Parts: sequence; structure tokens; C-alpha cells
Amino acid sequence: MRKGFASNNLQYFLSLLEMIEKRATVTGWGLYPSEENTILSGKNLEKELGLYSDVTPRGLGRSYADQAMNGRGYVVPFTDRKRFLAFDERSGSLECEAGVALYDIIQTLGPRGFFPMITPGTKFVTVGGAIANDVHGKAHHVDGSFKNCVESFDILLASGKVVTASRKKHSELFHANFGGLGLLGLILRARIKLRKIETTYFKQQSFKARNLDEMLDLIDEKDREFPYSVAWVNPLARGKSLGKGVLTAGDHAGIEDLSASLKKEPLKVTGMPGLNVPFFMPGFALNGLTLRILNGVINYVQSHAGQFSHYDSFFYPLDAINNWNRGYGKRGFTQYQFVVPVEGARLTIRKILEEIGTGGCKPFLNVLKKFGKGTDYLSFPAPGYTFAIDFPISRKLFPFLKRLDALVLDAGGRIYAGKDATLDAQSFASMYSQLEDWKKIKRKYDPQNMFQSDIGRRLGLV
Ligand SMILES: Cc1cc2nc3c(=O)[nH]c(=O)nc-3n(C[C@H](O)[C@H](O)[C@H](O)COP(=O)(O)OP(=O)(O)OC[C@H]3O[C@@H](n4cnc5c(N)ncnc54)[C@H](O)[C@@H]3O)c2cc1C
Repeated sequence: MRKGFASNNLQYFLSLLEMIEKRATVTGWGLYPSEENTILSGKNLEKELGLYSDVTPRGLGRSYADQAMNGRGYVVPFTDRKRFLAFDERSGSLECEAGVALYDIIQTLGPRGFFPMITPGTKFVTVGGAIANDVHGKAHHVDGSFKNCVESFDILLASGKVVTASRKKHSELFHANFGGLGLLGLILRARIKLRKIETTYFKQQSFKARNLDEMLDLIDEKDREFPYSVAWVNPLARGKSLGKGVLTAGDHAGIEDLSASLKKEPLKVTGMPGLNVPFFMPGFALNGLTLRILNGVINYVQSHAGQFSHYDSFFYPLDAINNWNRGYGKRGFTQYQFVVPVEGARLTIRKILEEIGTGGCKPFLNVLKKFGKGTDYLSFPAPGYTFAIDFPISRKLFPFLKRLDALVLDAGGRIYAGKDATLDAQSFASMYSQLEDWKKIKRKYDPQNMFQSDIGRRLGLV
């Protein structure tokens, strides 16, 4: 709702010259849920925002569901706020606007020998979005989550003030923003640390596991050897083979590791993908046969991974096809991701894989890995094993995910809010023990709940 209309008409009409409102259909990457939102854009955000309430920042919309949606108020996109402001080549410290995407960083600074320190499985995420979900990548057991590469950020608060938050200044505000889902203010700029690299290639190996115990043992063993690791589990395997799959592990390749032909352009970067899913696949295409074919292809590709991999295939295989989310059809899909503590994890993951086998909901892409140390407040990663799996939306899916939520809760685990589409406020509160501390910070910096969103209301955060 717009504030201040009656009290200050002049200011309101002036603001109309600056801010543009547009109605548009908005979804997350999973295409579910979908609704009309009011998109608010304008150059003078920092001055004009005080006239609005109920505001949600949005990056590239790569969260899976209603994280960057707001059916009641306004959505403020950050994708045109993407200037690089300063770069210190000696320390690798980059200052940029919050709408800069990891893709932009790689394109611009990859050829100069720098790469994002922590990256999720897509490069099409903004720095602001990466902070708000405290994203993690394949090296979490070594590098931790996105917070570990953020030195500071400037945030526009509900008071209209812009403050710089870091580990030393406004430190509770700094920490509470990681996993804070954009509900504490608009991150305008950030200073992040990049990794110095010799090449944009990775050395990698793949290892097969015949069942869940072998797989978890393999992850434990290879995580001690390799900074990057991620496993795929065949969701169709049953009985003694339950949990079988392939683990891929790797490390940065140095110049000396490369073949003569790769050495010619060791810091090669690639542009936007050429492939595209031009339309929504019809629902009937998602059947048992396509599921078996897809899992057969993944098994083959994972087990036959070459010795060297360019960063695009190592980190971002899904980015190779634009709009691949349309492959799930118009009803969309969700990605269910949980983490459970190491103790008891084998039993819980087994039960969940068994539920997946019998639950009647089609399991598509999945990822299994082990997290290292977690951080504070609402940041998702916590020590334990994490499993993420895609399911197309269907009527059966909702009660099915409730059953999985109960298993995760029972095991002392939690769900990743950055991908979640279905969790309820009560379950979320039971999963995140620092929720009340986070809410105190929310009340301190945003007493009128100016920053809201659909997920904020669904999970009882606002
Ligand atoms: C193919 C794929 C692979 C993925 N792999 C991983 C993975 O490996 N690990 C992982 O952690 N995640 C992963 N994700 C999820 C993705 O990394 C996160 O959802 C990320 O936060 C999306 O960033 P975005 O810029 O698209 O933000 P959006 O999705 O647009 O928004 C995300 C959140 O950030 C808030 N926000 C956005 N901009 C700002 C700002 N300027 N100030 C304050 N708040 C803001 C929004 O309000 C929202 O709550 C994956 C997603 C996809 C599609």
C-alpha cells in the first residue's frame, strides 16, 4: 500500500514522475505459485521508497517459489542495478550493485583470473539474492556459505536510511540478512571477495556407490580429499540398491594441469547459452518412461565425466539450456531440499528415499552432499547431509511433502526456505531455533513491517 497520500499530496505526485508501477504475472523458477504482482521501478528508489510499504526486493527470480513475490504490495526488481563500482586486484575485493549477477562477475573478471568464491548451481543469481538466501555450493564443507565471501553491504532500511553493515558495524543486521529473505531492507551494494584462479577449468573424478551406506561413506572419504563434491542418487533404485548413485569430486586445475590445447586459453569464459526450451512441455510428457530415460542419461553422464571440466559444466550444467524449467510443464515443479544432522542421517535419508519410491510423486533431478559448519539466524546450511530433489506439481505432492517434512523435523533437520514452496509457519519455527532472535532484529529495523513478501507471510516472518 502506498503511504503518505493524504499527508503529502505534492510529494506523492512528484514520486509518480519517478516511480513506475506495472502489473505482471510473477513466479519463482519452479513456476509455482504464480500470481499478478505490482512491479515498482524507478531511478530514485533511495529517495522515493519511503512513500511505499509492503515491499519485496527481487533479483533474477531463481528462488524456486514465492521468495521474491508479493501479491499484496510491491516487488522491486534489482536486475537493472548492476554496476561494478570498484575492484582491488591485489585483494580480489569487488564492490558492486546488488543486481550484479555471478554471470556478470565471471564474464568481466574471469579472464583476469578471478571467480566467485562461493557459487550455487546456477550463475544467474544476483549478489543481493545470494545474500538473502545465504546460498551454498559444492564446496560448503570447505568454504561455507555465501556469507563467508561478503565483507559488507549497504542496505536501505525502513527508516529511509542507508547503512553499511559488516562484521564490525551493525553486525547483527549484517548476520541476520543471510537467509533473511530480503525482509530486513533493500541491499543496494555489496563488497565481496573473489577467488584468484589460474584457469577456469576443474580436475574431476567420479566414483560409483552401490547403495546408500556406500554413498555416504564415499562422501565422507572424498570430502577430506577434494574441496568440491556433489552426488546424484538414482531415485528409481529400490531394496538393496536404494541410494545407489555417482559422486563427482574435483578441484581447480592449475595451468600446469592443462593440456597444450587448453593452455592456449586457460581463462576462457563462455557467453549466454544458445539452447532454449521454447514452450511449456505438456504434462503427459512427464511420465515413468521419461523419468527412466532421464535418470539413465544422468547416470551415464555422471559416471563418464571427463578428467577436466570447464566451469560451466562443472558448476552450472543446468544453465546450458535457457528456460529449462518449462520442461516441467505449466503446472511447474518444486525443489525440496533438507539437511539432517549426521547422527541418525542414514536412517532418515533411507526412510525418505523409501517414501519417494512409494509416494507416487515423480522424482526428477536430485543432489546429495554434506555440509560443513553452519552460520546464524535463518541461514539454511547446518552440519549434516543435504538432499535436494525436484518434483513436478501434482495434487498428491502436497500431502506427500508434509510426510517428508515430518521425517525431517523428527530427525532434527530443516528445509531450505530459498527453494521451499509448501512449508508452514509452525514447522519452520520448529526447524529454525534462532527464529525469535531474528524476529527481534526485524522488529528493531522494520517495526512497521515495511518489507514483506508472500513467503514472509507464509512462514510467519512478518
Ligand atoms: C538451477 C538452479 C540451481 C540452484 N542451485 C543452488 C545451490 O546450489 N545452492 C543454493 O543455495 N541455491 C541454489 N539455487 C537457488 C538460488 O541460488 C537462490 O534462490 C538465489 O537466492 C537466487 O538469487 P536471485 O538473484 O535469483 O534472487 P531472487 O530469487 O529474485 O530472490 C531471492 C531472495 O532474495 C531477496 N533479494 C533479492 N534481491 C535483494 C536485494 N537487493 N536486497 C535484499 N534482498 C534481496 C528476495 O526478496 C528473495 O527473498 C539454485 C537455483 C536454480 C534455479
